[in-house]
Amino acid sequence: MNGRCLCGHVSFTLRETPEGVVICRCADCRRWSGNAWASVSVRLEALEVRGAPVWFRSSAYARRGFCGGCGASLFWQPVTEDTAGGERIAVSAGALDLPTGVSVLREEGEAADFQQAGPLPAEPRQLTGRCLCGGVTGRLAGPAGAVEACHCIQCRRMTGHHSASFGPVTDLVLSGHTLRCHATQTGHWKFCGTCGSSIGFSRGEETWLDAGFIDPPTGGRLTAHIFTAFKGDYYRIMDGLPQAAER
Ligand SMILES: [Zn+2]
Ligand SMILES: [Zn+2]
Ligand SMILES: [Zn+2]
Repeated sequence: MNGRCLCGHVSFTLRETPEGVVICRCADCRRWSGNAWASVSVRLEALEVRGAPVWFRSSAYARRGFCGGCGASLFWQPVTEDTAGGERIAVSAGALDLPTGVSVLREEGEAADFQQAGPLPAEPRQLTGRCLCGGVTGRLAGPAGAVEACHCIQCRRMTGHHSASFGPVTDLVLSGHTLRCHATQTGHWKFCGTCGSSIGFSRGEETWLDAGFIDPPTGGRLTAHIFTAFKGDYYRIMDGLPQAAER
């Protein structure tokens, strides 16, 4: 199996077939991916990486690897001495080329407000956000409101699963010297150059923010799925929300 980041600076080959995909919605994976991070676990020696990921020590026991060129969330690796059964590494499922031939094994972490459907709330009136390392912060008027899940190949390679964003936003103030931008034909992808957190997407004057960047509660609700014609093959969309094959 092969995979790569959004810009192609980092690519990889898996020399074994993983058991399946774990979707993680923990607070760290939400901030890092902008929504949820999906991964497959393989033995370290079964992973061949081309290009150099940037590593961020995200906790006492693990580090996260991302592409410094585009910010794609690619690898999660334990750094403790406890490696009974051999060293393993988690690899982004969204970065895998299709077909992957695998399916979801389990989901971890509690879903945030924006990952669920329901009536749109009027609160909170102010939103703050930050990346995983805290290098990039943001504030804007709330609530986040309608959140769309985008299943396009760019969002999948960038986030590791699919994106969940809201906008275009007004009165957004983003600050931090580690804010980076990756330009593509469709627009500019914003990410943190230190931790690799996905922050948002801009096209012209308009910006959409990744809901995972916002401190909860976001006041966001999932309202639709777009570009489902390009979704990954390892998951199914079963929440009953409207789906658009493209936009
Ligand atoms: Zn890249
Ligand atoms: Zn950061
Ligand atoms: Zn997309």
